[in-house]
Amino acid sequence: MIQGKGIPFVDLITPHVELQEELLTAMKGVLTTGMFVGGPVVEEFERSFARFCDTKYCVGVASGTDALRFALMAAGIGKGDVVLTVPNTFVATVEAIVQVGAIPRFIDVDPQTYNMSTDALRTYLQSHSSEPIKALMPVHLYGQMCEMDEITALAEKYNLMVFEDACQAHGSRYFSKKLNRWQSAGSIGKAAAFSFYPGKNLGACGEGGAVTTNDEAIATQIRMIRDHGQNKKYHHMVEGYNGRLDALQAAILNVKLPFLKEWNTKRREAAKTYNRLLKDADRVGIPMEHDWSFGNYHLYVIRTPDRDGLQKHLTESKIGSGLHYPVPLHLQKACEYMGYKAGDFPITEKLSNEILSLPMFPQIQEVQLEQVAEALLQFSSVQTVG
Ligand SMILES: *Cc1c(COP(=O)(O)O)cnc(C)c1O
Repeated sequence: MIQGKGIPFVDLITPHVELQEELLTAMKGVLTTGMFVGGPVVEEFERSFARFCDTKYCVGVASGTDALRFALMAAGIGKGDVVLTVPNTFVATVEAIVQVGAIPRFIDVDPQTYNMSTDALRTYLQSHSSEPIKALMPVHLYGQMCEMDEITALAEKYNLMVFEDACQAHGSRYFSKKLNRWQSAGSIGKAAAFSFYPGKNLGACGEGGAVTTNDEAIATQIRMIRDHGQNKKYHHMVEGYNGRLDALQAAILNVKLPFLKEWNTKRREAAKTYNRLLKDADRVGIPMEHDWSFGNYHLYVIRTPDRDGLQKHLTESKIGSGLHYPVPLHLQKACEYMGYKAGDFPITEKLSNEILSLPMFPQIQEVQLEQVAEALLQFSSVQTVG
């Protein structure tokens, strides 16, 4: 039995207590300048995050969803264009596509990586040559990289733009065999979206997001779109949005960014420990990582047939957990009009019933990982006997 408060799914308090002095100093700096929206603190973050992602440009915006939406808009994706993505993602991926006027079509995921299946993608492209497909939006789900060489090659063959949904993939890397080097998440496609929602690997104390790109025209366009379409005050070049990153959030992100690499390393160590502790557990599938993916373990997700039973057991043992995601997007009420039905994406559907996200955060202790594993083994052994 676990003593005290138990083990949370995620810990958003400890990092802010650890960095409290630096955070307060940075926030005070903003309070004393009175520049709350945009300004040098935001620009400093944009430069640092572009460097972190190995891209030429980074444009701070109000959320990951804005980042996805603005990236598509800036690249000219709009009314009637088809964008291919996965049903196994957070709803924001599809909101962005729909809200620029484009049409999302789904590609099922790979049963090992849970990310866009390149076989399914190839088949779709071969059999839908009459559709106005303009872009691909692979999602590096849980911080695990998609097979970007394959995706990029198909994009080139069919003349499509690639937008990475890197909202869970800060600091993840992909080994490109084609280029014979590691590439950072967010540096591979036409543009990429990041979210700084508090629970992400780099989280603000509120909302925030960014687009990274090597394309100057896209960066310039997004700087206008996020700011009511203006290139100077009250001169509106395009119809835009109020979608800026505010200076207090940027100040917080400036303090936290230097720790991101270390935090990701700690997550990877925790994942390794889970892998070791769970490798012999009956009927528990641990995450699979190809040698070409260096994931940031935003989430550590296992698979198990009696997922709901296991989650209940963990809750009773005071262990937090999560479901990412319990309802595939093609079966959401909001997506009903797209005309999909149960059975259309069997792998995503199977996953949605079997996946369970275990406690994962950089400060998680070895003893906590052991306690989670113990509770899990206890449950799975009871299941096997019974
Ligand atoms: C978090 C997330 C988003 C949206 O980011 P927000 O900052 O919450 O708008 C988009 N896609 C994925 C895969 C996400 O995890």
